[in-house]
This record gives sequence, C-alpha cells and structure tokens, in this order.
Amino acid sequence: MLLGGRLAIDFTNSPAFSGSPNWEDFIRFLEATHVVSPERGAQLLPLPQSDPQAADDVLSRAARLQEALRKIFGAVVRKEKVAREWVEPVNEILRITEGHDELVWNDGEWRLEFLAREGGLEWLLAAIARSAAEILVEGPAARLRLCANPSCGLFFSDMSRTRRRRWCSMALCGNRHKVAAFARRRSPRSREA
Ligand SMILES: [Zn+2]
Repeated sequence: MLLGGRLAIDFTNSPAFSGSPNWEDFIRFLEATHVVSPERGAQLLPLPQSDPQAADDVLSRAARLQEALRKIFGAVVRKEKVAREWVEPVNEILRITEGHDELVWNDGEWRLEFLAREGGLEWLLAAIARSAAEILVEGPAARLRLCANPSCGLFFSDMSRTRRRRWCSMALCGNRHKVAAFARRRSPRSREA
C-alpha cells in the first residue's frame, strides 16, 4: 500500500520491517517503489540463501531506519523537536553510501535519480534515507500528516489541491469514518455510548 506520496513515508508506513523483517517483503517494497528494477529484484531475492549475513545486516539496518523515521515523522506532525540521535540512522546510511545523481528521462519528464556505487548492500536504503532527509529539510513545505483515524498510524504527504487531506486513504479510513458517523446519526443510543 503506497499512499504516503513520498518514498520515505511509504517506507515508514510499511508493515514489512517491524517485528521480524522479511527479505522478500523488503525486496517487493523496493520493486513497488521503483528503487530497484524487477530484474534487479529477482537477482536480490535469493540473497538470504547465498549470503545470509549480508541480507540480515541490511534488514536490521532497515528496521533501525524505520524505527527512527517513525519517531522523526511523529515529532514533525506533532510539531515537536526532532532529537539528534533519531537522525543518526539516516545520516549513517547517507554517510556510507557513495554515489551520484544522474538525470533520467522517465514517463515524459526529467528526474534526478541517485545512482549508488555498487558494493555493499546499504545502497538499497540510500534513496529512502535521502527521501527522509529531504522531508525533514523541507519542513512545513513537505506537508507531512498523520491519518486522522487515531487507530491507523499511517503518515502521508498532503499534496491535495485543497491541502485538507485528512485520511491516509478514503477507502481505508475515510469511508470507515463516514460510515461510523452515519451509524451514529441513525442510532441515537449509540451516540451516548
Ligand atoms: Zn488511515
């Protein structure tokens, strides 16, 4: 489910990295967000068999990054201070990932794409760390929001024209809210509950 509007937000929302992160889910996420091509994804899938240590290292780094981003984005939407130590996992990846930007023609427009130097597997997280760093640097302009459904917890970037998007998605939380409000109006007793 990619509804965050920005790579780092979708990564933070993804259930694939909490608990016991799963290599296949991780690669599928990278494919769905176009961080890796389907061909590259297919090459990476068997890595836990050929090099379990390398796969484990990247997965635990991904889990650490996600935990940090949850704290960072949570503080941003609550307009609280972002602690320096939360930013460290982001900087760590930015620091160890060597690469360069390249202009890429994509779907009728020019995009600046980060091309990591091959080597370690940390480059798989480079684009996510960079996206997170950009969101933090943009500040209020990134329009980072938390879904208005208190039991949801998904973040998104509000780039709607009216700038009043409240839900991660209308289908998931918006309609549920509408249905609940409708039921409350229809049944006076439940209003008191
Ligand atoms: Zn939601």
